[in-house]
Amino acid sequence: MRRVLESLRLHGPSSQAALARRTELSRATVNSIVKSLREEGIAETRPVNGREFLVALVSRQGAVMSVQVNVTSLRASLFDFGTHARHDASVTFQEDTEEEGGDPELVVDMVRTLVSRAGLLSTDLAGVAVAVQAPLARATGTVTSWARLQLPAWRDIPVAESLQETLGVPVWAENDANLAALAEWTWGSGQGAADFLYAMCSAKVGGGLVIDGRIYRGGDGLAGEIGHMVLEPEGPVCFCGSRGCLTTFVSERSLLHALKSSGGGHTTLHQVIDSARRGDPACRRVLYEAGRHLGRAFANTAKLMAPSVVAVGGTLSKAGPLLFDSLVSSAEVQSLKVASPDIRFVPAALGDDAALLGGVAMVFAETGTGASALPAWALRQQTIQKPNSR
Ligand SMILES: [Zn+2]
Repeated sequence: MRRVLESLRLHGPSSQAALARRTELSRATVNSIVKSLREEGIAETRPVNGREFLVALVSRQGAVMSVQVNVTSLRASLFDFGTHARHDASVTFQEDTEEEGGDPELVVDMVRTLVSRAGLLSTDLAGVAVAVQAPLARATGTVTSWARLQLPAWRDIPVAESLQETLGVPVWAENDANLAALAEWTWGSGQGAADFLYAMCSAKVGGGLVIDGRIYRGGDGLAGEIGHMVLEPEGPVCFCGSRGCLTTFVSERSLLHALKSSGGGHTTLHQVIDSARRGDPACRRVLYEAGRHLGRAFANTAKLMAPSVVAVGGTLSKAGPLLFDSLVSSAEVQSLKVASPDIRFVPAALGDDAALLGGVAMVFAETGTGASALPAWALRQQTIQKPNSR
């Protein structure tokens, strides 16, 4: 059963013949496993072209809570697979204040509020996933030392362990870009890719690697942190302590800084992209250069791990061809096509929800359930924003 579930998660809806082939089980065995998965409400069969049937994972029961701990906001979404409803809440913080990143009590508050709004009990939750906007040390489950300043109230706190103790339900914590990568691989731009690299480019650059269907973390949770790949050893100082990291060239702040001398008065990356679309040459220039830097970083990564798909998410990806044209040509200049001839560069598909949805994918994977396709209701946000009253 574990093999059948894994195969369905890895390959999406499949015929019983394909399942038998991949799992090396007999057709009869696959047949009886599928039958019991259907009875448990974990899988369903769907007709395709009249005669053939595909087996798909479907979650009809239980609820999953997904929380995102960002430097400037907290978000939480409850996905109730029993009633097909999604409940959302968010809190934003003043930048450069002690509030940044919120704190564990605030997360517990939000989780309990959403659970009661959905008419559920905490114990109805199959699990809680926490996406943290910082790398987590694998051994301790705490925010990596060099990123602690970003999330002051989470310092030295084993994120999953401490929340699990308070909430009394299973909690998993993971770096946000890793979770976004998992969501994109499970349901989005990287679906079905054997090896998948994802870069989330917004305020900062995060990255995640999915290899053979699993997040690849490395020793200190730092694997896939493409944002801190050094492109120019004499470049600008990065908050991680290095110089010339990819982040220092393509983050929102660095693009806005590069534009200062042009006098355009832009204050957000969204504005820069809008102006570039309307033909502003300075804005087009910084996006072109951001694409070139990303292309170089991807080419270096690709030579090590040869991913079949590289996806770019976050605000920057909304620039479309203004970013991707120079990205692809820069990657090609680095003779990437020789090292990795079939590599595809694509915009991410799941937008700002990727990390939250990745939390759902992680709880599914950890609890042995899944959904071959993301139901439409799970993509509809019902956000009730409230100012942080504390
Ligand atoms: Zn860095």
